[in-house]
Amino acid sequence: MAKNKLGTNTICTHTGGIKDEQFGGAVSPIFMTSSYPFMDVDVKRYPRYFNTPNQEAVGTKIAALEHAEMAIPFTSGMAAISTTLFAFLNHGDHIVLQNEIYGGTFNLVVEDFNKMGIEYSFTDGVGVADFESKIKSNTKVIYIETPSNPLLTITDIKAIADMAKKHGLISIIDNTFASPINQTPLDLGVDISIHSATKYLGGHSDISAGAVASSKKHMDKIWHKAKNTGGNLSDFMCYLLERSIKTLGIRVERHNLNAAFMASYLDDHTAIAKVYYPGLKSHPDHEIAKQQMLGFGGMLSFELNEEYDAVKFQNELKLIKPSMSLAGVESTILLPSLTSHALLTPEQRKSVGISDNLLRLSVGIENVEDLVTDIEQALKTFD
Ligand SMILES: *Cc1c(COP(=O)(O)O)cnc(C)c1O
Repeated sequence: MAKNKLGTNTICTHTGGIKDEQFGGAVSPIFMTSSYPFMDVDVKRYPRYFNTPNQEAVGTKIAALEHAEMAIPFTSGMAAISTTLFAFLNHGDHIVLQNEIYGGTFNLVVEDFNKMGIEYSFTDGVGVADFESKIKSNTKVIYIETPSNPLLTITDIKAIADMAKKHGLISIIDNTFASPINQTPLDLGVDISIHSATKYLGGHSDISAGAVASSKKHMDKIWHKAKNTGGNLSDFMCYLLERSIKTLGIRVERHNLNAAFMASYLDDHTAIAKVYYPGLKSHPDHEIAKQQMLGFGGMLSFELNEEYDAVKFQNELKLIKPSMSLAGVESTILLPSLTSHALLTPEQRKSVGISDNLLRLSVGIENVEDLVTDIEQALKTFD
């Protein structure tokens, strides 16, 4: 149902670029100004109005990739998420959120919503009934995230979007893990797609940014909230993000290939108890993933056998670096039990399926043989 006639890599490379009228250079110029005229102009431009030339350029590119009418860039993923939620939730409203969501989003909801008079419920699972059973008379928004962190659970996007429509609710997805290369949720009926552009869209571990993509109607509401909350991305960062997205298609293609290779290598390994990757036939949600994803992404998690100490294993890796973040061209690893899920007790972690030996691997674009060599030498240190 793609609305764009251009191929994805062509959109990545060309769509939304600013023509250099002055010198004819190949790259979008950066317009670093916060001061624009207000007399006799069609558009009153200002950075916090999200309408400077560089903001519009990168927004146009992201909108094309998300098959959306419009997108705007934010200064972080959380600025995009918080602004969008506050655009659609008022005092007295209720939201249903997926149980497994990004830690920052979870913290925003549990720390701030009640004192603002916004009610919330988390689901017990990711099935349609899990969401539908939490809907109340004041529910306004359904919020999902797929693939989820760190167990790569897959939520049936179309089924949830259809259910939200039936009840007249706004549906929002955090599309960060898939990237618009692997998943275009608006085609499946979701109203709003959000990214932490700090991850795949940026892709080089050097940008903090976010983005929201939707119809003009919804974006108008989000824009009105955004100019009050002020999470606008600077023109310089817009330029870097635009430059990064030029290679998004080929980067993600390689992330997909490498992660698929690493998932099956780890799955066959005697030192590994379990692998979580939606591209594996053994993944419980593989069939849904196949239906709604063009590629299975660069993220996977695996559990080391009990006799291995996961902290020591991680410290013995030489090429694969421990990192809180993800989705860079370089492979990185983290232990959810010491980071995102550190505040839970071991028992609580166990109940949500996160063992202390679980490692989350963000597979980069390196040669996979070198990643395998790194893992093998780390395991050898236990001999
Ligand atoms: C990192 C991340 C966020 C938050 O993005 P920031 O750019 O760090 O604010 C939101 N959702 C997911 C899935 C993420 O991985």
